[in-house]
Amino acid sequence: MSNQAKVWIEKKAYKIKGEFSSLEANTPIRREDGKLCGVTNPRRLVHMHSYGGEAPFFEGLAKGKLLGTQCGNSKCESQGSIYIPFRICCPDCLAKMKIVDLTAAAKKNAKIYTYVVTSRTGAFNTLEVPIKFIDVQIGEAVTLLKSYLLLSEPEIGKRVIPVFRAKPTFTITDLAWVAAGAKKPPKGFRF
Ligand SMILES: [Zn+2]
Repeated sequence: MSNQAKVWIEKKAYKIKGEFSSLEANTPIRREDGKLCGVTNPRRLVHMHSYGGEAPFFEGLAKGKLLGTQCGNSKCESQGSIYIPFRICCPDCLAKMKIVDLTAAAKKNAKIYTYVVTSRTGAFNTLEVPIKFIDVQIGEAVTLLKSYLLLSEPEIGKRVIPVFRAKPTFTITDLAWVAAGAKKPPKGFRF
């Protein structure tokens, strides 16, 4: 698409170029006897999603890294607590947290806390169904990360390791998991 929407930042300001909303040809909606009852209105919108302080997490996935955050405030009751999903500020003292690399912990010490398998997805789903959603407990982290399992069946307590999309999309689906000990990553992913 030559007029594809593009967004970039220059001097701290968003710059945009191209088509951000477009219409496609509509079609009539008719009754069995041919009576016109309405029309479809196909349209396309490009949504700009700003990652703000969470951008390092998504950049990390593209590099095969799993990043979390940790509160380093000595006056906070939760000092030292590690969070993944990535949180910018400590939920207890609101201080900005430091980024910690959890890739090694995820490879050595991650397991399925619970899971749900679903074939009924929301709109715009890009994952293969049925999706095996898993809640992953990673090392010492005090929170669980929701993600999805590939290649094998989920079980509570099963040891898993992360895999990363070889061609990143910079979204959460760049991260998936396989059973620990898997010899090869799934197609399109790397260890
Ligand atoms: Zn804190």
